[in-house]
Amino acid sequence: MKKHIQIILLGPPGCGKGTQAQKLISEFGFVQLSTGDMLRAAIRMGTEIGIQAKAIIDKGELVSDEIVIGIVRERIFSKECERGYMLDGFPRTLVQAKKLNQILSDRNQKIDVVIRLSVPDEMLIRRIAGRRFHAKSGRSYNIEFSPPKIEGKDDITGDNLVQREDDKEEIVESRLKTYYELTEPLVGYYREKGILKEIDGTGSPGNIYSEIKHTLNEVPV
Ligand code: AMP
Repeated sequence: MKKHIQIILLGPPGCGKGTQAQKLISEFGFVQLSTGDMLRAAIRMGTEIGIQAKAIIDKGELVSDEIVIGIVRERIFSKECERGYMLDGFPRTLVQAKKLNQILSDRNQKIDVVIRLSVPDEMLIRRIAGRRFHAKSGRSYNIEFSPPKIEGKDDITGDNLVQREDDKEEIVESRLKTYYELTEPLVGYYREKGILKEIDGTGSPGNIYSEIKHTLNEVPV
């Protein structure tokens, strides 16, 4: 596999980006840059950005391009990302994708591969409805597909698991609508650049992971 690799994980909410990112982190130590996680951290810390972002996230809409580009730019050129990274949940609009392209090419860098996980809507909705998290660590479970050992409790700490406010049914519909309107056009954008790899996201997490690794191994060095 290419030594320093820059990856984008692309797909609708519930497509399995987060699960696959976790696997890539534990096997290869990739740095994951999840704009959703960064915004949730900003909300927890009560920063100015967090305060602005909360109302928007709770409605299932997108935070402004300016804000997310700002938070990604801060991290992408940091020391921890020198050996490559995996973007999860960013870019989500064409404006973000073009801006990313520009800030990377200004430093002679580029995205190596965009992995798109496709999953039909009915499955996305079922997966999201069952998602539960351990708030402190971000460990995730699914009450239907990968339940914790004790109902409602984190396997490691025993803390209560929580459901994300925006994973509740009424908000999920709005998130999916936003995805198709604003994020799906990125598929064409990256296909034209010749770096899009489409992977069926409906199989078992293990099989999907094997396909992702296969794809990453094919990235030219
Ligand atoms: P996620 O955890 O990736 O599902 O993101 C949760 C929420 O954070 C989204 O529904 C958006 O409101 C916001 N968000 C995350 N990433 C972005 C982004 N790249 N652009 C705009 N809003 C974002």
